[in-house]
Amino acid sequence: MKFCSNCGHAVTLKIPPGDSLPRYVCDACHTIHYQNPRMVVGCIVEWEDRILLCRRAIEPRYGCWTVPAGFMENGETTQDGAMRETLEEANARIEILPLYALYNIPHINQVYLLYRARLLDLDFRPGAETLETSLFAESGIPWNELAFATVRNTLTHYYQDRRLGHYGFHSGTIERLRISPDTTRRNPDG
Ligand SMILES: [Zn+2]
Repeated sequence: MKFCSNCGHAVTLKIPPGDSLPRYVCDACHTIHYQNPRMVVGCIVEWEDRILLCRRAIEPRYGCWTVPAGFMENGETTQDGAMRETLEEANARIEILPLYALYNIPHINQVYLLYRARLLDLDFRPGAETLETSLFAESGIPWNELAFATVRNTLTHYYQDRRLGHYGFHSGTIERLRISPDTTRRNPDG
């Protein structure tokens, strides 16, 4: 950030009085511009024994497959956001099921929340940010062409759970090079 979104004056990175972290502070109107992690919301969309994946028409990971997900908007719930992203990316109508996974990704300042969801009909097609949408059985999942570690990790848990006949809730932290469950988190050198 270089300029104040309130008055247009230059900002300076400094620790405000009483704070403990550096913030962008406007030198003219003294507004403190806090920056916080962003929420990514999405879902695993089920149709019988298959799930809906979207092939990305945008960077990052152009051409790779992902579950419908995107940045949450102001004024919506996490469920609203997951439904909206599924509609935008796959033109698919869904019913939201229980929350399935939460991932912290501190090095890019994001938190992922993924719900399970039920596809309501087969009238889906790619949205503007999607090259292709398709239903995949487990045997057809393009594991080597999945866009993100969050997706790979979530789907791995998903199929393990499905074999066990019970969907749990999974949370973890994705470090730059590894994924660790929150309960056994180690530092990158550990
Ligand atoms: Zn200002």
